[in-house]
Amino acid sequence: MSTILRLSLGVLFLIESLAPISYQASVEVNENRALVDYPEKITFYLQASSSEEIESVELVFGTDAISCGENVTRAIPEDYKSSKEVDVEWEFLLRRSGTLPPGTDVWWVWKLTDSSGNRTETPRQSLHFIDDTFDWQLHQSESLDFHWYEGSAGFIRELAQAGETALSYLFEVTGVKIQERVSIYIYEDSDAMQTATLFAPDWSGGIAFSEYRTVLAGVPPGSITWGKDVVAHELTHVLVGVYTFSCVESMPIWLNEGLAMLMEESVGITHDSEMERLANAIEDNDLLSVREISYIFSNDPDLARQAYAQSLSLVEFLFETYGQEKMLQFLDKFKQGISQDRALKDVYGYDQDSLNAAWREWIGAPPLEGTP
Ligand SMILES: [Zn+2]
Repeated sequence: MSTILRLSLGVLFLIESLAPISYQASVEVNENRALVDYPEKITFYLQASSSEEIESVELVFGTDAISCGENVTRAIPEDYKSSKEVDVEWEFLLRRSGTLPPGTDVWWVWKLTDSSGNRTETPRQSLHFIDDTFDWQLHQSESLDFHWYEGSAGFIRELAQAGETALSYLFEVTGVKIQERVSIYIYEDSDAMQTATLFAPDWSGGIAFSEYRTVLAGVPPGSITWGKDVVAHELTHVLVGVYTFSCVESMPIWLNEGLAMLMEESVGITHDSEMERLANAIEDNDLLSVREISYIFSNDPDLARQAYAQSLSLVEFLFETYGQEKMLQFLDKFKQGISQDRALKDVYGYDQDSLNAAWREWIGAPPLEGTP
């Protein structure tokens, strides 16, 4: 066996070493740059001269986002015609591809192929995708990088402290630990934050980009309580998102939102109004079912608020009844890409309906009709 293997390897090496070395075009790059028009687009330019006709030009670029498979985009400038003089540009339009958070590092290379099939690759370059109309300041705490431009250093220190507290609490109650530093961009208010991203809903005050390990928040310097709330909440989304990342997104939304709300409590946020809403829903017998808050929350603000209140309550039910270890096992299932139903069954022995029934009983809601 081993002789045959060695033999075939030898043949492979031979073929490789006998491959003809063809003439390589000499390519001179005159200009290779990219222009950021934040948050709309990045324009890549290349100007080069070659001793041979360059038949095709390809732009290859990517970021360090967590992704499924290779995180690389390939683009071919459409109007390029074979020439010894290359002068091309390509626009990366973020309204088409999805927004990039501030602070993202984007790398790129150009690949040129000449008429004999020889390839030339420009050295890898990179740019920092950021809105530089703001005078960004940096405050680093143990695990977090806070970027801000409005308010005092004391205000940011307080926010950073809240962030660190939420991280410790998350580790304490779930076992989920921060692996890599997270960047947090503090805008002066929600409007400024929404302008910085292309698809932020007009009611949002904070956004988590878990695959980029980045949080955006709109926090006026006077609103420290709101600031702590949004930092703890969005930071939890980032950490839980990174921890449970898989190629199949299967984590229930109530679990993600419930955990984020629970972490808000570590920085002194109380959820009295949510508990009142829950009590009213029990009394009026109009609780949403676990199924109804698994995949999407309603657009109706009132129903959405109720979905958040119930999510918190569901997560509390699981913690109080089954403890911390089970929660980590539950999160591990989503990391493995296991479906909600399988994960629930494997860890807690429920399906969505029996979880709904057990939780209703726990909060003192009457059993649903048809439930034994
Ligand atoms: Zn959330």
